[in-house]
Amino acid sequence: MALLEVTAAAERDRQTVKTIGVIGGGQLAWMMAEAATKLDLSLVVQTPKLDDPAVARVGDRAVVLGAVGDAATTRLLADRVEVITFENEFVDLAALGELARSGVCFRPHLVSLEPLLDKYVQRCFLQGIGLPVPAFAAIDDRTQASTITQWDNGDPLTFPAVLKTRRHGYDGQGTRVVADRAELLTVGDRWHWQPLILEAFVPFERELAAVAARSVQGEVVVYPIVETQQVNQVCRRVIAPAPIDPAVAQQCQAIARRLLEAIDAIGVFGIELFATADGRVSVNEVAPRTHNSGHFSIEACRVSQFEQHLRAVAGLPLGATDLISSCAAMVNLLGFESAVSDYREQRDRLAALPRATVHWYGKTSASPGRKLGHVTVLAESPQELQGAIEQIEAIWYGDRP
Ligand code: ADP
Repeated sequence: MALLEVTAAAERDRQTVKTIGVIGGGQLAWMMAEAATKLDLSLVVQTPKLDDPAVARVGDRAVVLGAVGDAATTRLLADRVEVITFENEFVDLAALGELARSGVCFRPHLVSLEPLLDKYVQRCFLQGIGLPVPAFAAIDDRTQASTITQWDNGDPLTFPAVLKTRRHGYDGQGTRVVADRAELLTVGDRWHWQPLILEAFVPFERELAAVAARSVQGEVVVYPIVETQQVNQVCRRVIAPAPIDPAVAQQCQAIARRLLEAIDAIGVFGIELFATADGRVSVNEVAPRTHNSGHFSIEACRVSQFEQHLRAVAGLPLGATDLISSCAAMVNLLGFESAVSDYREQRDRLAALPRATVHWYGKTSASPGRKLGHVTVLAESPQELQGAIEQIEAIWYGDRP
């Protein structure tokens, strides 16, 4: 039977499911596990270590031990669940394709992941479906970096530009602003000319994100558009809703809907966006999974992104995405030192703030920039929200930048 027919048959048989496998056992799976309890679904996670965050919630017996990219472990996971979803997209797609051909059901489908795993392929795909993206070009080696004069779209190449590794970048690892060609060559040398993409530097006024979900039946919901604020290219805080013109929010919503439909998504997708002062929006990056910019939804929305994702993956109807307060913020608790500490004193002080909820991922060690937890706070005005963010950051970061 052809691949599509096998997939379709597997799909029909499994419209609604009760047991879900998750590739990855970090904080996203940890938060998904809480939502699974609410929906009375069972999760089994594929993760390399028993001290990974999600294990504390699903229990040792709901773990298949193995690296995220190890498809042999995913085969074992498939024996225990009806469908498999992703906390982490750094998978071996070719090997998972073999599993799909043998009838394993992935939600989202592997074809929805395929255009997203490599930043150059992703840019080409987004451009191909008519979404606005910064000008870009693939950089394959030093000679090409020394001579390239045009972006892929034919426009003249300009500096500053942004150099990125095509695969496996996260939290700004593998992303560098390069001021001129000399710096491009220096950074390329340092990165040993692994496959790279160079992009036009976008002089954005704000970075935004759209978190959206699509069901098996094709229904799409979009969360309120948020502003994400990065420090050293890592997301520090998220403001919901973003303080933007309704026309800009509408563009973001339209981009999210167009993308989820074009890619035949099932589940939550996170879309990072740039907004420039002239009211234009372009896509930075798409993640085929729940996203840091959607964590605020646990307390601030009627249905969290984690519940929404599981609803979609399990074949259930989607839920409401409205905010239940006027506004909300999420502050990431990023490591600022290398240490083994549970930071109990700071966490207690954060938890005592009004309308604040602390999520502590239970990681065994801290290092600079590592996501250790987050705090969500609800408020009724932007001023109240700003005051709460300052209190949270003073407790966690103190005077550190
Ligand atoms: P990662 O995949 O590691 O999260 P991103 O590609 O999202 O990396 O880049 C991290 C940050 O770098 C972005 O949030 C943004 O602040 C900055 N950045 C990335 N691409 C550009 C660009 N083309 N123009 C300006 N800033 C950019």
